Amino acid sequence: MTTITPSSLKSAVTPLASGRIFNFSAGPGCLPEEVLKQVQADCFNIAGSGIGILEHSHRGKVFDKVLAEAFEDFRAISNLPKNYQVLFLTGGATTQNYMVPLNLKSYSETADYVTTGYWAEKALEHAKVYGTVTEAATSKDKNHSYIPSDAQIKHSPKAAYLHYCSNNTIFGTEWHELDAAGNNTWRHRVPTAPAGVPIVCDMSSDIYARPIDFTKFAMVYAGAQKNLGAAGTTLVVIRDDMLEKKPTDKDGSAREIPWLLQYRTFAKDESRPNTPPVFAIYICGQVFKWIRKQAEGGRSCLDVIGERNIRKAGLVYSVLDSSKFYKGHAHPTARSLMNLTFKCPTPELDDKFCKESTAAGLDGMKGHRSTGGMRASVYNAMPEAGCKALADFMREFERKNG
Ligand code: PMP
Repeated sequence: MTTITPSSLKSAVTPLASGRIFNFSAGPGCLPEEVLKQVQADCFNIAGSGIGILEHSHRGKVFDKVLAEAFEDFRAISNLPKNYQVLFLTGGATTQNYMVPLNLKSYSETADYVTTGYWAEKALEHAKVYGTVTEAATSKDKNHSYIPSDAQIKHSPKAAYLHYCSNNTIFGTEWHELDAAGNNTWRHRVPTAPAGVPIVCDMSSDIYARPIDFTKFAMVYAGAQKNLGAAGTTLVVIRDDMLEKKPTDKDGSAREIPWLLQYRTFAKDESRPNTPPVFAIYICGQVFKWIRKQAEGGRSCLDVIGERNIRKAGLVYSVLDSSKFYKGHAHPTARSLMNLTFKCPTPELDDKFCKESTAAGLDGMKGHRSTGGMRASVYNAMPEAGCKALADFMREFERKNG
């Protein structure tokens, strides 16, 4: 086993002026450097309190302020209407695979799932514990390289909800609106659902990557460890009427939902019915402040971030489009802004690419075990310089090995 020490790392890679390297990990992913610096300081002594954030009571004044600001900043980023609640939960996005059907559908009802990748398939599989679920559309026939059109989604009569995953972290596809000519506009596409069917979305890997209208959803959830902060909390945005659902069980009786698995418990008590993941919430709060600061020249922070993400991903996709060496996984109309997936002509060259890119200070690009190849995750905190360095590396690697 090779032991990685700071000095062996240093000799292996080209560090940035800060001593850090470009981190293309799929999650936990890179965080904004200015956030990390603030976190360092606040771990020792936050807000002049003489106590670090890790040591404060979750009911004390310092954390009251951290939490209030996190809610306020999150809401401000997307102008979230008052009839939506923001919750910080635990158990990862995966726990939502159970909490969604447990809270939002009776055993006798069905719910529709569009399975466009690994996580969407897991959501469907786990929901089966709570009765019937229906696969309303899938992209499995082409190894999840595209996103089904609205016409391909077969809605069940009276589904309790429609579930989809807006960005497929592993396969590198994302839901985009297309223009009349069928070109990608990069705007978020929400599938249409029959009137009154609530839409639930797993936005773990692309929340706040571009402007988002939460009023199209009944509920959105996102593990924090990609675009929102650190691992340890899952953010939920839920419409008030969803909190009032009273699902029934297999025998028709009112379902007893454990107190800490009810969304309303968290809505009633500002996400702290018990000790919440204080540190993870605090980091989300810092990232929300960073997101708000991205607003410039009269454009909203999400407009600026969205445009930057299109430019960033474009640097890499333009290499794929002009290459006979690399092959992208996603169909161009479904390419992700966050997870860019591609392969070299052979698995041996993929391995070589991963080794050499890591040595060049471009870390974490080995594709998921289910797809192979490479995956460059370029979440909001990845600077444009990182994508430029990757595009340059790709061109040079092709020149030497093509
Ligand atoms: N959904 C998506 C889209 C994901 O990318 C992930 C994790 N990468 C999950 C769900 C599962 O998240 P967690 O590990 O927080 O349970």
